[in-house]
Amino acid sequence: MTAVNYPAIQCDGSGDGGKDGCYAETHHPMARTVTDVRRLRRDLGWRQRPAGRDICPDCWKAGHR
Ligand SMILES: [Zn+2]
Repeated sequence: MTAVNYPAIQCDGSGDGGKDGCYAETHHPMARTVTDVRRLRRDLGWRQRPAGRDICPDCWKAGHR
């Protein structure tokens, strides 16, 4: 059995409380590393915060940074 694992990033835009968190996740077929995913998804609105948190476009727009 062969499993192909794409590197993926998950949204950390849940805010300080952590509950009702956003579990958005994304990947990119051309990405080999999480860093690649971040770079390639930046055009779609995914952001990385200095602490290493990844923010999906919806949370970014909603101000959950
Ligand atoms: Zn999100």
